[in-house]
Amino acid sequence: MLNFNEPPFVGKELEYIRKAIDNKKICGDGEFTKKCNRWMEETSKSEKVLLTTSCTHSLEMAAILVDVKEGDEVIMPSYTFVSTADAFVMRGANIVFVDIRPDTMNIDEDLIEAAITEKTKVIVPVHYAGVACEMDKILEIARKYSLYVVEDSAQGVMSEYKGRALGSIGDFGCYSFHETKNYSMGEGGALLIQNKNFIEKAEIIREKGTDRSKFFRGQVDKYTWVETGSSYLPSELNAAYLWAQLEIADDINNRRLEIWNRYYNGLKDLNDIELPTIPDGCKHNAHMFYIKAKNLEERVELIKYLKDNDIQTVFHYIPLHSSPNGIKVGRFNGVDKYTTKESERLLRLPMYYGLKDEEVDNVIEKIKLFYRK
Ligand SMILES: *Cc1c(COP(=O)(O)O)cnc(C)c1O
Repeated sequence: MLNFNEPPFVGKELEYIRKAIDNKKICGDGEFTKKCNRWMEETSKSEKVLLTTSCTHSLEMAAILVDVKEGDEVIMPSYTFVSTADAFVMRGANIVFVDIRPDTMNIDEDLIEAAITEKTKVIVPVHYAGVACEMDKILEIARKYSLYVVEDSAQGVMSEYKGRALGSIGDFGCYSFHETKNYSMGEGGALLIQNKNFIEKAEIIREKGTDRSKFFRGQVDKYTWVETGSSYLPSELNAAYLWAQLEIADDINNRRLEIWNRYYNGLKDLNDIELPTIPDGCKHNAHMFYIKAKNLEERVELIKYLKDNDIQTVFHYIPLHSSPNGIKVGRFNGVDKYTTKESERLLRLPMYYGLKDEEVDNVIEKIKLFYRK
């Protein structure tokens, strides 16, 4: 069976994990965590980047930093992973879901303003498949109504919008290094911070509410409990695994783009399906290659046909507004014109760093055969 995903492993991971062990430093914020942080600060041109235990936790940190409280409203697409909403619901927020654009599956920037009330505090654009949301428009709305922008850039590491790294455009950005993402440490993530005033508080929240980071920099004699926080810093072992990949991030990105383009060129003349759109000004990272079947029935048949041919494909997301918890903690503003309909058509094809050209060609051929029948 051709797997839908295989976690990235580029060769130096074990050597670096061994080095962390030899350094006698396997808890957080050692050599490898610092290397990862610096790499992300440089490539994304962010004021500060902190490696975390997950993208979900980075989103939680952002929710704490902007002081989301009971009854606040947070605007986001319904077509996203549960974490986007979880992080804010944990702080008592109500979620206001907005419809997506069918071309990119991203939040429709023209529907955001109508969803704003006096309770709105944050807009969360999700850069689906590593393709940017229309950030100029979103920032303009956020400025007009004094709202925070937290980018769910879980899928957007190495992607750009008009020359700026995804995750570095809003007040905060959140990366994921889960094993299904382009770069991985098993479980992990990062918080990108642009406003200097939030840096110290972010460090404190990440370190159980203590000023331990200041202590290590020699800025205080003793560290103590200064805020309510949690434990959002990952172990050096995980950071060491990730560093092996960030070090050759361009190679990984280029290979993924090759695979993406191979799929695209191989399928673009097949009129039965729709392919992803990359708007002008967006540089994507080939996080995902998806196609859209005619409807749910056709997708079910196609998945079965590919499975019978030893190819694993997957779909996602069940729209959050119609999920059991989404009904309780959120509402859909306006009409669900595309969220449900498009989510039922979308199918993700195998996509990972180690995928071979022959395997891609085989998937393309089988999809063509399915439609020829
Ligand atoms: C993967 C993903 C997350 C969660 O990332 P974790 O690191 O597993 O917490 C959140 N949002 C989106 C859009 C994702 O794709």
